[in-house]
Amino acid sequence: MPVVLHQFTVAVGGVMNPGYLEALELARQCATHAHTQALPGAGIAHGSCWAALATVPNPGAGFPLGNAVAGGAALPYGVVFGNSRFSIVGAFAVVPGAPAVGFSGHAERNALVVAGGNGLVPYGLVAPNAGDWVMYVQLHPCVHCLPWLQGVGGGGLLNPFAGLIAGAQNLHVWYRWAHNPLGCAAKDTWNGLPLATKLAQINTW
Ligand SMILES: [Zn+2]
Repeated sequence: MPVVLHQFTVAVGGVMNPGYLEALELARQCATHAHTQALPGAGIAHGSCWAALATVPNPGAGFPLGNAVAGGAALPYGVVFGNSRFSIVGAFAVVPGAPAVGFSGHAERNALVVAGGNGLVPYGLVAPNAGDWVMYVQLHPCVHCLPWLQGVGGGGLLNPFAGLIAGAQNLHVWYRWAHNPLGCAAKDTWNGLPLATKLAQINTW
């Protein structure tokens, strides 16, 4: 089954699309997790792109259920992050599940590679959407990542879940900004906002 792209926009919303609520939570998870590194001059993440994948948890291996950003209630899935600059960080800090050849410069790829490298599998939504997986990435997947997500090119390591996506699973990729100069600039500006502002904005997506 395919990779299905959805854009968060204030005008369109997306409530009827699979994974909308989960993707909103993944966006909140990214905003919170990345915030201290996302401010200008504070770290690697201001100009980089973040992604998060909902996974089946494996607490025994150190991958517990996530907790909702608002209120802290346990989520039914774990959260695995990816960043477009893992390819730089990987040389200096150990990321569990990092591939031996290193990370790519693409946030959504790195989230999927980390999940696969730790033996995790994406979380299937509840029936009737059990065949649907969900991830969030700030920018629309680039022209290389679109085929890569489907296992049909794009260079680098294979998507560890491409075979399943070619089978019965759908991967719903929710993104916020177009992958062009305007979209990248909007993403960078957004990364520099106060965390409370980011979370309030996500609630309007
Ligand atoms: Zn890409």
